[in-house]
Amino acid sequence: MQTLYLKRGKDESLRRFHPWIFSGAVHHIDGQPAEGDLVRVVTAEGEFIAIGHWQIGSIAVRVLTFADEPIDAGFWLRRLACALDVRVAMGIAGREDNTTFRLVHGEGDNLPGLVVDVYGRTAVVQAHSVGMHVCRHEIAAALQQLDGLQLDNIFYKSETTLPFKADLGQENGFLAGGDFDDVAIENGLRFHIDWLRGQKTGFFVDQRDNRALVEQYAHGRSVLNMFCYTGGFSVYAMRGGAEKVHSVDSSAKAIDLVNANVELNFPGDSRHEAFAEDAFKFLQQMEDDAYDLIILDPPAFAKHKDALRNALKGYTRLNLRAFEKIRPGGILFTFSCSQAVSKDQFRTAVFTAAALSGRRVRILHQLHQPADHPINIYHPEGEYLKGLVLYVE
Ligand code: SAH
Repeated sequence: MQTLYLKRGKDESLRRFHPWIFSGAVHHIDGQPAEGDLVRVVTAEGEFIAIGHWQIGSIAVRVLTFADEPIDAGFWLRRLACALDVRVAMGIAGREDNTTFRLVHGEGDNLPGLVVDVYGRTAVVQAHSVGMHVCRHEIAAALQQLDGLQLDNIFYKSETTLPFKADLGQENGFLAGGDFDDVAIENGLRFHIDWLRGQKTGFFVDQRDNRALVEQYAHGRSVLNMFCYTGGFSVYAMRGGAEKVHSVDSSAKAIDLVNANVELNFPGDSRHEAFAEDAFKFLQQMEDDAYDLIILDPPAFAKHKDALRNALKGYTRLNLRAFEKIRPGGILFTFSCSQAVSKDQFRTAVFTAAALSGRRVRILHQLHQPADHPINIYHPEGEYLKGLVLYVE
């Protein structure tokens, strides 16, 4: 393993367990590591600090450990077992009525660059760093050995999440198994997971708790689930006793998925209808007072900091449409999953929309990502999902 020397004074954030080393902090490396190699990180004076994955780019090292320990099969097994223990403690894993959860959430589980979502007997592994890509087979082997999880299939899906320039020739495919039984259970509801072609790892696991809250509010309501994708919110609203549920997404594939998921849980139920349409167009054309529970869960409007201003305008425009149209006494669930948009900025964008609409609005709940997407306290950048539940007079 090659040794990376930090510039003088650049070890401070690492002593506070921040898991990234920026390229500007690097003094020199003894030798020429290849992208994805492990490096041993030492201070200017040569004192051991950490071991991590080296990569070309502004984040030069993603730290795997602050202890001087081998990164071997035992290491991966210990880290994954620890992640699973926490999910069992949360009451999310080890349940028959909930086989869908995030097992590894990158920095939040002290494994920067790695995401693992579990869907029944399948784990979908996603590498966001070259180092995790290099280690994918060791990770898959450790996943199969985990006590308390019976995984038949390990699917690797990193085609779009790895740095393009690294030119790894990566492909999506099975690292173990190969079975396409794609139905997973979330809080007793069943969902087809399209890990092969779907967005992210095939499902938005991060909305589980917020969907359960929609279920609580749904009784007797007319629900509009905007940006529905797999229809998670729609299916929960139906179980909650909604009078009607309309799902909207601009992608025809998403509309097929939502219809399939509604059919899986509520066969032949005529309360549900899905529309392949643009959200802004749909909101503009729909009648006033048609809905009294609206969910807005758009894709990230700001993927980078420089897109922030436009993103905030986008959130205001979208929420304004909903405030203008929602029935008096209606409930609005509104979300942002842009990491670049802070909780306060999002709230201000929604506040602006409320003020422009002239409606009286109360905040009932402030929502965030669930416990299986933990935030490393030394890495606040890991916080991304925020939402508000609003009562509109
Ligand atoms: N609410 C979903 C996740 C939403 S992901 C869940 O709980 O799983 C965002 C979705 O918005 C994607 O499915 C994407 O196809 C859709 N989308 C993106 N732009 C859109 C637009 N302008 N109008 C409607 N849908 C859009």
